Amino acid sequence: MTVHTEDKAGVHGAGSAALHAELVRRNPGEPEFHQAALEVLETLDPVLDARPELADARILERLVEPERQIMFRVPWLDDRGRVQVNRGFRVEFNSALGPYKGGLRFHSSVNLGIVKFLGFEQIFKNALTGLNIGGGKGGSDFDPHGRSDAEVMRFCQSFMTELHRHLGEHTDVPAGDIGVGGREIGYLFGQYRRITNRWESGVLTGKGLDWGGSRARTEATGYGNVLFTVEMLRQRGEDLDGLQVAVSGSGNVAIYSIEKAQALGANVLTCSDSGGYVVDEKGIDLELLKQIKEVERGRISEYAERRGASATYVPGESVWDVPVDVALPSATQNELDEDAARVLVSNGVKAVSEGANMPTTPGAIAVFREAGVAFGPGKAANAGGVGTSALEMRQNAARETWTFERTEGELAAIMRNIHDTCFETAERFGHPGDYVAGANIAGFERVADAMLAQGLI
Ligand code: NDP
Repeated sequence: MTVHTEDKAGVHGAGSAALHAELVRRNPGEPEFHQAALEVLETLDPVLDARPELADARILERLVEPERQIMFRVPWLDDRGRVQVNRGFRVEFNSALGPYKGGLRFHSSVNLGIVKFLGFEQIFKNALTGLNIGGGKGGSDFDPHGRSDAEVMRFCQSFMTELHRHLGEHTDVPAGDIGVGGREIGYLFGQYRRITNRWESGVLTGKGLDWGGSRARTEATGYGNVLFTVEMLRQRGEDLDGLQVAVSGSGNVAIYSIEKAQALGANVLTCSDSGGYVVDEKGIDLELLKQIKEVERGRISEYAERRGASATYVPGESVWDVPVDVALPSATQNELDEDAARVLVSNGVKAVSEGANMPTTPGAIAVFREAGVAFGPGKAANAGGVGTSALEMRQNAARETWTFERTEGELAAIMRNIHDTCFETAERFGHPGDYVAGANIAGFERVADAMLAQGLI
């Protein structure tokens, strides 16, 4: 990056606007990465003003450039014996705080820009957990929908055949994300073990409970997001008990958000998939939802067919049209736009908390900010998943297995701590109640201090 010249940068770096313009120029065709970077950069000027040593060391300029980007071919045979070719990615963004850590996404939309947006967010999220994990992300444009178990296994084996040389419990530790759950982690771990001839349980997280997995990891992202929401409401003298909640998505994060919200007395009315949404006046029947999505790998439309009169399936429309007190977007990026935010606000929403990564567009965040809605950004609110992955690594290193209660207790402490850190940091920098600014600044300061201490690398 050429922003270091005196005329462009002055003595204290380029400033966030100039840096973002340079980032867009140098990373063409990556709109999600541009969006994620802008959301962080535009909140950091107060820190750089207060701490010129960070600007002098060009911490931001270094931070937006991944330490390493890996792209590779993934050839595999489908059930009819035909050759298929996908593309694999791993972006190792920043390891100042620990080994690269972040999930793998298998979805047809995956490209380098999406992996970079996710990896960039992951740096700050992982820093916010207070644990020693760096930021990375990976995946493939492989779509597991409609593929047999045998096809998914062959794909995972081919993917890991290349990826394994970049991984290690002290180097880079992937986990799941969209399209990568317990089945895929099992096949990936098996191939890693076979190639390396090592039982290196800390190399992947989200493993099965009998072979190194952590209790409460499956539940952690959804549970953590609801706990974060509870903390935001508590700060305003409110309680989740008795509130109406909308959840989008029907995957891992959505299902366990619903479970925790219901356990705390909320009435969860909705869930969705890429085809449409379900609204259930009696509240989502979680056992039925789990049966359809986790066991049968079916579609959300089947939920309405089997649930009876209380549930309606609405194809192709926005789940955010349903009047609720709390919205938990838990599907994918940019699923909640400015129009949807206006509808939610006019229906009286009190809190919005991101289970997914970057599900809320910048325009929608501005609407919530203006209306005084409590807004929990994903890098804080969904950090319980990676936080519990780090607890899994800790158990693996000590060859221990913790109880569900102990792990959930640690998760709750992590989420409370993240909430309080974001809240207090936002206040300290003159943005009271702004969890976006609080999360970005607190995450940035921790990584920046480590980078500063470790010299120019
Ligand atoms: P899953 O694959 O388990 O579920 C994803 C859900 O989102 C499915 O219901 C899927 O529907 C829906 N979805 C995916 N893409 C789209 C789309 N383009 N439009 C509408 N709906 C879509 O993934 P997870 O639950 O693990 O992940 C959900 C989100 O949470 C992602 O943003 C992920 O990055 C984030 N996250 C996940 C963590 C984890 O621990 N799993 C940790 C932190 C964040 P369909 O089946 O129709 O595709």
